[in-house]
Amino acid sequence: MLHLEGIESVILEQRSREYVEKRVRAGVIEFGIANLLEEVGAGERMRRQGLVHRGIEFRYDHGAHRIPLSELADGRSYTVYGQQEVVKDLIALRVAQGAPLYFDAEVTSIEGVTTNSPTVEATLDGELLRVHADFVAGCDGSFGASHRALPEGAFRRFERVYPFSWLGILAEAPPATEELIYARHENGFALYSMRSPSISRLYLGVRPDDSLEEWPDDRIWDELSERLSTDERPELNRGPILERGITSMRSVVIEPMRFGRLFLAGDAAHIVPPTGAKGMNLALGDVRVLYEAVRNFYQKDDESLLDSYSPTCLERVWRAEEFSNYMTQMLHPNYEDDFENGVQRARLRQAAETREAATVLSRNYVDLNSLS
Ligand SMILES: Cc1cc2nc3c(=O)[nH]c(=O)nc-3n(C[C@H](O)[C@H](O)[C@H](O)COP(=O)(O)OP(=O)(O)OC[C@H]3O[C@@H](n4cnc5c(N)ncnc54)[C@H](O)[C@@H]3O)c2cc1C
Repeated sequence: MLHLEGIESVILEQRSREYVEKRVRAGVIEFGIANLLEEVGAGERMRRQGLVHRGIEFRYDHGAHRIPLSELADGRSYTVYGQQEVVKDLIALRVAQGAPLYFDAEVTSIEGVTTNSPTVEATLDGELLRVHADFVAGCDGSFGASHRALPEGAFRRFERVYPFSWLGILAEAPPATEELIYARHENGFALYSMRSPSISRLYLGVRPDDSLEEWPDDRIWDELSERLSTDERPELNRGPILERGITSMRSVVIEPMRFGRLFLAGDAAHIVPPTGAKGMNLALGDVRVLYEAVRNFYQKDDESLLDSYSPTCLERVWRAEEFSNYMTQMLHPNYEDDFENGVQRARLRQAAETREAATVLSRNYVDLNSLS
């Protein structure tokens, strides 16, 4: 976006190009964020290969309940397209523009963020690379160098850790259904999603201390079948598991998202549990706000949008935190607290079976980052 406005920028990525292009993570792109990718010239393949979805299904009490998201969210839809494919498209665009992008460049320090010319240092092929800039965008995830540049006492960190994790698999199996399925079962949560007409992406809620060794292939498939099947739709398509991993679930917000000339964006500033499909969308929503602020600074000599960057983003971030927390709490049975389970079931029935609650859910699911 900066390049399109003639504003110079340098991107430093600690991993190799091959690694980031293969890193499987999120896969749901909101309506407005898909439009953003298209506007900047990175949306052509997404439009061609992405799967446009207009609903999701909730399964509970052995029944299926479809939420007609598009019907309830002014016709808007979402696109299923892997995050690693978005990353590939953005890299290809950057390379075609001939703009600086360094891989295997680990940022080791960010200095002078309270001055007008901060400096970023990275190691590249054993050499020191030093970048002097007007601004630093800290887009380096929850374990990056941006955090280390924040002085103690300059920010507040809010955190909630959930008492379960997700075991995710990528399988060479054609999706059994056309839309995503979120299931709440006595044994735990399950999510059925897909990446293409031949690849399924499935998740199971597991205990936080479970390890992959405890989950051989047959146990994963049997448990997915148990949690996802209904009387009318008993079977899943099984196939070779291409990738697997266990991810812990937490919510984090860092306030403010700015310290001097360092602007945090994406996971560097906030984490959401993946149940609401918001992580990647929030990151892209942040950089859209940051881009406008930086453009205003250079083109109009106006710092007001830089000053409002953190409060503007945080309003949307907390809304996404609320939605992700709501989806998470509603769909993961509590193994110890049956009162909580009763409340969860009531909330789920309300979301699936009343138009008012389903409308709020639909708008948040499909296009939260564009809502004002
Ligand atoms: C295993 C996993 C599964 C997920 N699944 C989902 C999902 O299903 N749905 C969903 O919505 N979200 C999901 N997420 C969250 C989503 O992927 C993130 O919210 C999203 O990647 C955030 O984008 P980002 O650009 O802020 O951070 P990242 O994508 O993490 O990018 C940060 C980049 O900074 C680089 N970096 C870090 N430190 C340095 C350094 N010192 N120097 C240079 N570069 C550095 C990293 O290598 C990385 O490439 C998942 C996350 C994980 C880890």
